[in-house]
Amino acid sequence: MEKKFKKKYPELFSEDFIYECGDGWLEIIEKVCEKITWAMNAPLAELTEPYPKTKIIRIKEKFGALEIYLSEYHPYYDKIIRSARFKSMTICEICGKKGRLKGKNGWWMTRCKECGNE
Ligand SMILES: [Zn+2]
Repeated sequence: MEKKFKKKYPELFSEDFIYECGDGWLEIIEKVCEKITWAMNAPLAELTEPYPKTKIIRIKEKFGALEIYLSEYHPYYDKIIRSARFKSMTICEICGKKGRLKGKNGWWMTRCKECGNE
């Protein structure tokens, strides 16, 4: 699955990119790719300063939520990543259906009803 992203956004992923989460969040990740790519290619006239070129280094699940690491940061990128994190807490990490963040024995995960019962 992560190969699909690397193909679609070849500029956006680092060589040693690491993918460590379920496929339920692919849609959220795709939105993040779109937004960052847009920002990096935004017409300069509208900006006081261009957005820095950045690459996604790592995508992982952390405390039940989606965490995305970049090579270069910017407040706007932080905003994109933060909203993706909040969104991921409502979507099952495994299948992409509506889910809930829940804790079990110190482990946090976001799962729908079916996936949560395994
Ligand atoms: Zn599920």
